Amino acid sequence: MIGNGMAGFKFCEKFVRYRLFRKFELTVFGEESQPAYDRVNLTRYLTHDEENILAPASWYDQQGIRLRTGEKVLRIDREKKCVQTATGAVLSYDLLILATGSGVYMPPVEGIGLPGVFPYRTLYDLQVIREHMKSRRKAIVIGGGLLGLEAAKAMLDAEMETVIIEHAGQLMPRQLDTTAGILLQQQVEALGLTVLLNKEITGIFQDGDGLRVVCSDGTSIATDMVICSAGIVPRDELGATAGLTTGTKGGIVVNDRMLSSDPAIYAIGECAWVHGRIWGLVAPCYEMAEVLAARLAGIYKVFRGDLLFTRLKVLGTKLAYIAAMDDGYQEGESIIEKKQEEGVYKRIRLSADGKRITGAILLGDLSGYASLLQMIRMRSRPPADPAMFLDGMGGCDNHIASLPDTTIVCLCASVNKEAIVHAITAGKLGKIGEVCQATGAGTGCETCHAMIEGMINYYTL
Ligand SMILES: Cc1cc2nc3c(=O)[nH]c(=O)nc-3n(C[C@H](O)[C@H](O)[C@H](O)COP(=O)(O)OP(=O)(O)OC[C@H]3O[C@@H](n4cnc5c(N)ncnc54)[C@H](O)[C@@H]3O)c2cc1C
Repeated sequence: MIGNGMAGFKFCEKFVRYRLFRKFELTVFGEESQPAYDRVNLTRYLTHDEENILAPASWYDQQGIRLRTGEKVLRIDREKKCVQTATGAVLSYDLLILATGSGVYMPPVEGIGLPGVFPYRTLYDLQVIREHMKSRRKAIVIGGGLLGLEAAKAMLDAEMETVIIEHAGQLMPRQLDTTAGILLQQQVEALGLTVLLNKEITGIFQDGDGLRVVCSDGTSIATDMVICSAGIVPRDELGATAGLTTGTKGGIVVNDRMLSSDPAIYAIGECAWVHGRIWGLVAPCYEMAEVLAARLAGIYKVFRGDLLFTRLKVLGTKLAYIAAMDDGYQEGESIIEKKQEEGVYKRIRLSADGKRITGAILLGDLSGYASLLQMIRMRSRPPADPAMFLDGMGGCDNHIASLPDTTIVCLCASVNKEAIVHAITAGKLGKIGEVCQATGAGTGCETCHAMIEGMINYYTL
């Protein structure tokens, strides 16, 4: 396998779980120098110096998996079925898995390679940023999406004067509607961040000891450092050079069993183009790893990829977004609640026939998020009175109790409701950390934390 990031590590875990070592010898090449770490919580490294390694090298040894860190694969020879690495080593394969992830989209403008301009993706990136920040005061973050906001908050916490530059007319333009975008901006600005919208960067120039960022409207801003977090680019270069089919926006094209255009090569994670898109969140990447491991064990599974959901983690602003991805429905009306003065905005999208909830935006109040996530995922009918979703969503939280025991609560670790209820009731665990540790839930994207908290409340009362 090439790539030892989050999808690669999840595959290793599943390799062990499905006892694939009985059939295969697994060698994992990782370009980064450490074993896989928790990229989702990478920002903590800036403030807490935590590397968040998912498992030490000794774990791989114990499982009989050969881990070769700090060894980049340079070439795939599909005819000879071998890969060549930067150390000159050549290793043959029967099956090859690409789990090479993504890189950061760096705007192709003059000065993008200057010292003081950084991508925001790897532990190494953050080590360099941390070092650079020590003697600096001002930062610009390019990109007002989920990651850009996270990076900007980290800069602010390090007492940097921080400006977010977004080329669209609102923050998080791909997830939020205009109303939510405006409210979020107010909350972000209240924290002390400056937001500049509708700005296209045209160049970055040295300016004394610092930098100057120039925009297409003729304005320019002085700064000490620039952090790029304006999107991801799938790292498909190895597969593309080897002649594998790639998607229209990059990524190795695979079917719902993760198989590429070569019957001996699979792709999982952010480097894979599946169901007509790249999946830039950890839960679908984990699902891909699960599907591939199960298939190699002879178990029928396909990648559904029917849901995108995420929560803003570090900003101190409550924000969650859910979207059903299958397009077999027509968009209908939305139920909307807005409490401007409390900074609360909720929008529940319904299908045209009113039989499905197809998406949700929750800003300022996340109650009901977990139940909504399950309802959308399970394609449940909305309740007769959709107003229960609004005004505190008390009724919606009770929905947890009515879910079947087999309902998967943690999509990353495939932990079901029964296991969690057992930990709470039989194990008498009442804290989210305890329940997560006992069940393995909530250790990936952490989106299920709201639901687990709801379950703790419900089952301990
Ligand atoms: C700061 C940050 C916060 C995030 N927060 C969230 C969040 O809140 N929720 C969420 O769902 N997602 C989040 N994500 C996205 C999530 O981290 C990714 O979806 C996930 O890491 C994808 O896993 P992957 O294995 O496909 O890619 P990666 O984790 O990037 O792993 C790919 C690995 O392959 C290696 N590699 C590439 N090419 C080669 C080669 N030629 N030879 C050897 N090795 C190679 C790379 O060095 C890398 O280590 C966040 C990402 C970042 C950067």
